[in-house]
Amino acid sequence: MKVKVNQDACIGCGACAAICDNVFEINDEGLSVAKVEVVEEKDHQDVVDAVDSCPTGAIEVEE
Ligand code: SF4
Repeated sequence: MKVKVNQDACIGCGACAAICDNVFEINDEGLSVAKVEVVEEKDHQDVVDAVDSCPTGAIEVEE
């Protein structure tokens, strides 16, 4: 699974980083960025949960 955050859509609520800090972090501009391009197997469910929790649909995943 690949992941990226659409910076134009993210509002910096922090939900994704709270759910999965292995993958998401809030940068100096207050927006979420993916720390990895390819998500490890163990983090897949957390990333799916983050996608479901994102209020703006900013997290894009690709199988
Ligand atoms: S949950 Fe969505 S809007 Fe909130 S910080 Fe993460 S990517 Fe941005």
